[in-house]
Amino acid sequence: MLNIISQRIRLMISVEQARETILKRVAPLGSEKVYIEQALGRYLSEDVISEMDIPSWDNSAMDGYAVHTSDIVSPGIQLKVAYEIPAGSSPQGSLGRGSVVKVMTGAQMPPGADAVVKREDTEELDGSVIIRTIPKKSEHIRFKGEDIRKGEILLKQGTYLDPAQIGILASIRRVMVNCHRRPVVAIIATGDEVADLGEEITEGKIPSSNSYTLKSLVSQLGATPLYLGIAKDTKEDLRAKFSMARSADLILTSGGVSMGDYDVVKEVMAEEGNSMAFWKVEMKPGRPLAFGTINGVPTIGLPGNPVSTMTSFYQFARPAILKLSGSESLLLPRLRAKLACPVTTSGGRPHYIRGILSLCGEELHVAPTGPQGSGILSSMAKGNCFIVAPAERRLFEQGEWIVCEVFQASW
Ligand code: AMP
Ligand code: MG
Repeated sequence: MLNIISQRIRLMISVEQARETILKRVAPLGSEKVYIEQALGRYLSEDVISEMDIPSWDNSAMDGYAVHTSDIVSPGIQLKVAYEIPAGSSPQGSLGRGSVVKVMTGAQMPPGADAVVKREDTEELDGSVIIRTIPKKSEHIRFKGEDIRKGEILLKQGTYLDPAQIGILASIRRVMVNCHRRPVVAIIATGDEVADLGEEITEGKIPSSNSYTLKSLVSQLGATPLYLGIAKDTKEDLRAKFSMARSADLILTSGGVSMGDYDVVKEVMAEEGNSMAFWKVEMKPGRPLAFGTINGVPTIGLPGNPVSTMTSFYQFARPAILKLSGSESLLLPRLRAKLACPVTTSGGRPHYIRGILSLCGEELHVAPTGPQGSGILSSMAKGNCFIVAPAERRLFEQGEWIVCEVFQASW
């Protein structure tokens, strides 16, 4: 067993290869029907096709008068007001030549009218109106189907439902919509030295910040965290935690995947029936990573150092959770910013430096947050992005444009 494990440990792969391997092994979850009021932040599992034209009839975009443009050859013409259509009412008949119909915004256009003159351009008299401008054909009319056409695919499967999409669903009178199920993500912290909130911190113990960053990261993606606490570095405890995660769609662990770790973590992860590979990923921070299945559930073994845990989460677990959720867009948003100061790295592998993006005039500037140790969680808290420094170079000049990946959702 140990031989197999140590062989697997030697595997060295790029961030992209690791991510691809993980993504190949997860698929979007099945669908469920949800009320549109509960669908915000979910991903569609159906193509939504409109069964109607929106607007459903030609209507006025202004308060004013529906007219025949051919009646108004010069400004100042006086025309008879045939009748009035308040918003929400139907026309009482077609518009006869030489007359107008008073309309409110949203009112259905009377048949025959080909423009609306807004009220500000008219003068009302008793029973008639003076038109002060010459309207253009179709002016101030919202045409049937100009927003949404019947039979049109309005929202594609995989679309993220933001407020505008919810509004579109309401516009076509959909009360319920098919969305992908939200993933349940089991979270297990590991380590004899790690103490949970509420536990006493004796000498040599450290608080389990990872438990809470991971829970929050999972929740922020709209998935449901299933927090299983901290497993001791014993086979029994680990097995017990893993067996509580059988119903999950994905398991995330923290710690226990690096070189110096107690072999029990790796042994349990790699024991009969389970298949885990232990990788060295070409990245800093976050080199050790494990991936495979435990009791049939896809499992990502994240490194234990708090910044490595979060960086690896963003590179590997986030895309997996988004894919399970039904999203087609899986990667952090990327942009280029100008380095506000020189940056040096140890080279050799891509560095994910925590940075602060800010707008400087018309340009985006970025500067590292400060000390970059993999235990310095405040670098994540201060930062809003990763500055992605490629492996090939060690020195990056002030003023150089560099790729950044934005992780702060509120930025
Ligand atoms: P490991 O790979 O398990 O040896 O963990 C590497 C480092 O991460 C050690 O310094 C641990 O103390 C730290 N660490 C492990 N788990 C956690 C956790 N849940 N919260 C904060 N730090 C942790
Ligand atoms: Mg450990």
